[in-house]
Amino acid sequence: MDARSRHAATKELLNARSLRFHSSTYPGATGPVAFMPDRAEPLLSVRNLKKYFPIRRGVFSRIAAYVKAVDDVGFDINKGETFGLVGESGCGKTTAGRAILRLIEPDAGTIRFDGVNLLQLRKHELRRKRRDMQLIFQDPYASLNPRMTIRSIVGEPFAIHRLAGGLEREHRVADLLNIVGLDPAMMNRYPHEFSGGQRQRIGIARALALKPKLIVADEPVSALDVSIQAQIINLLADLQQQFGLTYLFISHAIPVIEHISTRIGVMYLGKLVEVGTSAQICLAPKHPYTQALLSAVPTPDPAAKKRRIVLRGEVPTPINPPSGCRFHTRCPIAVERCKTEEPPLRQIEAGRDVSCHLV
Ligand code: SF4
Repeated sequence: MDARSRHAATKELLNARSLRFHSSTYPGATGPVAFMPDRAEPLLSVRNLKKYFPIRRGVFSRIAAYVKAVDDVGFDINKGETFGLVGESGCGKTTAGRAILRLIEPDAGTIRFDGVNLLQLRKHELRRKRRDMQLIFQDPYASLNPRMTIRSIVGEPFAIHRLAGGLEREHRVADLLNIVGLDPAMMNRYPHEFSGGQRQRIGIARALALKPKLIVADEPVSALDVSIQAQIINLLADLQQQFGLTYLFISHAIPVIEHISTRIGVMYLGKLVEVGTSAQICLAPKHPYTQALLSAVPTPDPAAKKRRIVLRGEVPTPINPPSGCRFHTRCPIAVERCKTEEPPLRQIEAGRDVSCHLV
């Protein structure tokens, strides 16, 4: 079998062998994912976001320590752009996404969304605002209620917000299924009758139901086969252009993040260590951790020489993170100062922030 194979599915599988690519070359994904964000005002502005989970011990369940899952994180997302949040599992990216939507309550910080500080909203105000912010879940198998038909699942947001009923709801569900590439004739079926990719399309249809402005996509393709991943990424890119959506895209996979994101934030142990455009981060990473992450991505060109940066040791626990720079226990270029002094996230060039003493 070679790359001249004419069958579309075969080509997609062949493409899927290459995992390293520059933007717009995600396996099977079409065209450049280049959006022209509206830079006048960020749609989402996060500052000093913190989420600590208490660890309780003893008979009286006293708080013995905290897991510092998200520790002083801040970034902006402009209207119409995709901000990718990347890092190893356990770095706090999923917690950050959920805290922004207030699915878990943040402990500190401000979250300005569409001109409103979400942390000051009362329950009923937040409920109304939630129409504009939706979540696409990681696991398309667990995120759909197996006892509900697709008609009920996609129509649920209309029922919760009392927006459409009866025949109107049915028409809207049919429209949404069409938009995500599913046959509306299947709306009376149950989730188990669909493949993983189809289930993720159902999840996307549900997220689109209330015409949101912001979608937080939490590892939306990591549970899918590579060729299906490309289809879902293409769908999300098409929907963004069609509806002017803004994405916070969370993933541990640099190639996926690189393809879909306008800008990228790299997280390590609850903190952002580097923020920049997709090209800045993926073509010329500055932070040693970003450099190590990128060096681990395989290249499709066997002739290309690449120096793999192998990080020593395990990721430290967020219960008791290292002093100074949190990365110093694994950093290949750490100096004495790194053990005691925490580097601030500072701008080193237009649109690029890095937290490292040596950059
Ligand atoms: Fe490495 Fe020090 Fe920079 Fe942290 S501050 S990334 S330990 S060189």
